[in-house]
Amino acid sequence: MNAARPFPAEEPRDHTLDACFLGPYGENDTLLEKLLVEFLRDHVYWRRNFHPEDPPAIATAAAHHPDYLAFESRMRRELHQLSAALKKSVPFHSPRYIGHMASDLLLPGLAAQMLTLPYNPNNVSEDAAPVTVDMEVQAGLQLARMLGYPHDPAQDACAFGHLTSGGTLANYQALRLALALKAFPVALRAAQVPELALPADDWSAFNLSHTDGIALLQAWQHWLAAQAPTQRAHWLQRVENERIEQRGLAGFFAAHPSLRVPLVLAPVTAHYSWSKGLKLLGLGRDQLELLPTAGMRLDPAALRDTLERCARERRPVLMCVAVLGGTEYGTIDPIDAVLAARHESRERGLDFAVHVDAAWGGYLATLFRHEDSSLRTRDEVAADYVQFPTPAVHAAFAALGDTDSVTVDPHKLGYLPYGSGAFICRDHRAMALLAERADYVFHAATPAGYLARYRSLGQFIPEGSKSGAAAAAVYVTHKVLPLDHAHFGALPRATVRAAETFHARAQRFALELAGCVHALVPFAPDSNLVCLALNPHGNTSVATANAFVRALHDELRCDPQQPLQLKEFFGSVTSLRPEMLGPAQTTRILGALGLDPASFVPGDDRLLILRHTLMNPYLIDHENGISYIDRYFDFLGRRVRALHGAAAFHP
Ligand SMILES: *Cc1c(COP(=O)(O)O)cnc(C)c1O
Repeated sequence: MNAARPFPAEEPRDHTLDACFLGPYGENDTLLEKLLVEFLRDHVYWRRNFHPEDPPAIATAAAHHPDYLAFESRMRRELHQLSAALKKSVPFHSPRYIGHMASDLLLPGLAAQMLTLPYNPNNVSEDAAPVTVDMEVQAGLQLARMLGYPHDPAQDACAFGHLTSGGTLANYQALRLALALKAFPVALRAAQVPELALPADDWSAFNLSHTDGIALLQAWQHWLAAQAPTQRAHWLQRVENERIEQRGLAGFFAAHPSLRVPLVLAPVTAHYSWSKGLKLLGLGRDQLELLPTAGMRLDPAALRDTLERCARERRPVLMCVAVLGGTEYGTIDPIDAVLAARHESRERGLDFAVHVDAAWGGYLATLFRHEDSSLRTRDEVAADYVQFPTPAVHAAFAALGDTDSVTVDPHKLGYLPYGSGAFICRDHRAMALLAERADYVFHAATPAGYLARYRSLGQFIPEGSKSGAAAAAVYVTHKVLPLDHAHFGALPRATVRAAETFHARAQRFALELAGCVHALVPFAPDSNLVCLALNPHGNTSVATANAFVRALHDELRCDPQQPLQLKEFFGSVTSLRPEMLGPAQTTRILGALGLDPASFVPGDDRLLILRHTLMNPYLIDHENGISYIDRYFDFLGRRVRALHGAAAFHP
């Protein structure tokens, strides 16, 4: 077995991670059981101690009544059926699962969530969640620190973050905030607020930098606070009447005919939540301009061209989205280059928000943080890996702190239960513009003032009632595993290393099966997603190659008609499209696979490829010297050979 070990035997093992998960075999069952029983009892004592003088309202003998027993048996019956049905669930916990972005759940989070559930806090406000609403705001600050945002609420310009049902809603929140901040100076102009230094025209008002926009908002708040109460109410109403949130998109842009409706720029690799977000906001998908990529990463030259065109055509840009860990290929956009392009564009009078969609890759930022939250150098990070992080990847993470807002999903690489996404903005003061009730009361920048304000969380978030238990899970997990390389970082470290091992093994696989299939990792992985393109030897047709990959995927996907145990491994598929790849990459990839570009089906020109998400912490089982990566490629090799023998795939 030793020869097969992917890492040297003397590799020091981190035994703290052994207690992190329930485990593929349920190894930590007694630990979780102990915690659950302990805290369930704790909860019951809490109920009894509220007013111990109140007698039990349910009779002690009730449990013997036939109606009680009938109810209990109905409940048991349904629960057993549920439990049986759930056995068809996807085995995310298993190192044989390398499909979508899910894995085992961190025990601190799972236990915190289960222990909080019976208290049922509602994080819409402190009235319904006196404890967990603070935890949610603290979790936002924990994430801000990980990203390199200011995270001290004693500072004026502190970041703010809150949880959402997922990345989709966090991305939507980013759009809302960017629009509010850009449109507000236009409203101030329209209301003709005196004594404020207002921009000269609507175009420059809509193109204030993030910092200048917030400074103007503050100046307005100070001015307003200095007015006598009746004047204050008058001006507040007057400005409110001009705001985009009041007038709606149609009314606002009709009132400002020199302003065109803004675009949102995102790479073609962006998640479909961006399309949803533009629909939801009422901007419409026409306003989402997808930028070409180079090697599946946003192409800064294309961004600069687009920005030049927009400046020339006086077309405002609301936001540019950069993706940190793309959903399909795990690629990392050059965030530093996006910021540089904005800097250039600013000189031409065109300014916009920079948002990072790090729903997938956000927690990888822990790898780049020292315990004191300072940035680790590329060499320091690289010491643990073969190739990671490329200089471009390091530069992207180093630039995070200069962006305006970020989406991170604790329910993805945070290994926490669904639905936990997070939205974090660099400067919390902009949040005043999202408040449902005009939130112009000026709060002192003290930790107490900051917390007090955000305890009315429902004022600022897209949702209303929401789970306080989920917030407790995120907060407690970040306390147990602080978001730096020495603590939480151990998890992404294991996954990035697994991805490097997987990549190397895929390259050997390509050589081993050269006579049977062309196999290619289309892009060197930036992080922990690795794709594999396959084409039976001798075939030149894209349609046949797709049928081949589809047949392989049939064996790798969830099939509720079959017993789970029949599945050896779980994987997923994605596709490459020439319009996404650009001509040079299309030629390179099809050439390496022996495919004829002319065989693309017009209207459906996509090449199916296998996609592997390597986030399970036990892919390399040091205890037993098993590599599930090797086992996967052995399995894939067997299936490829068997399929290749099938008549359908013989050219
Ligand atoms: C998963 C993902 C989303 C959407 O997040 P949900 O939590 O599924 O709503 C958005 N962007 C990226 C890059 C993602 O990976």
